[in-house]
Amino acid sequence: MGYVELDLNISDEAKSMHETVKKFAMEVMRPIGIELDKLADPADVIAKDSRLWDVFKTYRELGLHKAGVPKQFGGMAEDMDPKAGPLIAQEMGYGDAGLAVSLGVSAFPITFAAMSPEPELQQLVRDYCEDTKGEIIGCWAITEPDHGSDWIMSTIPDFDDPKCGPQVKAVLKGDEYILNGQKAAWVSNGTIATHAALHVSLDPSKGMQGTGLAVVPLDLPGITRGKPLDKIGQRPLNQGELFFEEVKLPKKYMIITDGALMSAVAKMILTNANGGMGLSFVGLAQAAYDEALKYSKERIQGGVPIFEHKNIKLQLFEMFIKVEAARGYVRRMSAYNSAMAPNGSSPHAIAAKVLSTRTAFEVAGEAIQIFGGNGLSKEYIIEKLFRDAKAAMIEDGENNALCLAGAEDLI
Ligand SMILES: Cc1cc2nc3c(=O)[nH]c(=O)nc-3n(C[C@H](O)[C@H](O)[C@H](O)COP(=O)(O)OP(=O)(O)OC[C@H]3O[C@@H](n4cnc5c(N)ncnc54)[C@H](O)[C@@H]3O)c2cc1C
Repeated sequence: MGYVELDLNISDEAKSMHETVKKFAMEVMRPIGIELDKLADPADVIAKDSRLWDVFKTYRELGLHKAGVPKQFGGMAEDMDPKAGPLIAQEMGYGDAGLAVSLGVSAFPITFAAMSPEPELQQLVRDYCEDTKGEIIGCWAITEPDHGSDWIMSTIPDFDDPKCGPQVKAVLKGDEYILNGQKAAWVSNGTIATHAALHVSLDPSKGMQGTGLAVVPLDLPGITRGKPLDKIGQRPLNQGELFFEEVKLPKKYMIITDGALMSAVAKMILTNANGGMGLSFVGLAQAAYDEALKYSKERIQGGVPIFEHKNIKLQLFEMFIKVEAARGYVRRMSAYNSAMAPNGSSPHAIAAKVLSTRTAFEVAGEAIQIFGGNGLSKEYIIEKLFRDAKAAMIEDGENNALCLAGAEDLI
């Protein structure tokens, strides 16, 4: 990534992690992401011999999956320089945004398992930390075919209406919850995950506010999957449906059962997920800018590199302003929210996600213009960055729905 780091107080430790991830992003994520993006059938992305698994293995061998996991389970959360996390997230978004999401969301159920006093769930966290092969893969299963933005806005008071109630229901019978229902094809890692952080309805009379969260091993009888989703952007990111039919889940796997606590946790999830998205998509915006700058020095028109034309120079500087402004804000939000964790500011995290994905989309679109016809060609990466950025404006909450959820907290 070719930007000037404006924070002059970054420790040697954070700089060294940044360098490691930069190498991983450019030597592993970028080339493999381009290769997976070109596969016509999304089933090939997750085939046994797919290079997707090299990405998972390298990430795990580098120990990056342990970044947010508490030390008592073999993680590095307490030891990591807080400035390293944002640099890592940015760089991974620069390498390949879809793969960055796949690797990041994989830790979702692990985060919740670490909150449980149950030995089996704590062992899962330890096993995840030790897993250098990518054998334990998580997903965040929240979206349902009939409830997308409903979940994103679930903490808004109107969403206590039973008609907004979730589709996946968990009913307690003795020592087990019986799960029935379906999660949408949008679940990232949906067809490859071994474990899910699953949002369920516990009290249908309270609509979206009668929900809970479970860590679910996805090999339980009664769980089936859909086909890998085919889509225009972030194609290296596997997605797919999860179906639950009379699934017996031991009671201890239901981590959150209290509606009020669930609302607070839902806000915390929104804050963390949006903060991470904000950082990753600043990386994508930077990638689009870097590609345009490079191309403008190579492409000759009017007898000179197009960079010499004033319109191109001005356009590039406008793009530079946008990327720097987004990075400045997103990094500031991230520093504040990590210092205040777990009580970070949700509207600030949402603002960061919306700003950075919007910036990524605008800058990638402007970069295509600078590429001229070549911008539309699959020979160049720029059209992929544009498609990946578009997906991000819907991912983890469609941007307008997120703004509505964030606006509630301004009042
Ligand atoms: C790349 C990608 C990765 C994703 N990863 C995951 C994942 O890991 N796990 C997961 O569970 N889901 C995931 N999702 C799903 C994502 O969170 C949903 O797509 C998103 O929340 C929007 O829901 P929807 O697609 O059903 O759109 P809808 O909710 O149908 O919204 C359609 C439009 O209607 C508007 N709208 C909806 N409701 C309202 C309202 N009440 N008031 C005003 N306007 C409204 C929205 O703003 C939007 O413009 C992912 C999506 C993408 C694209």
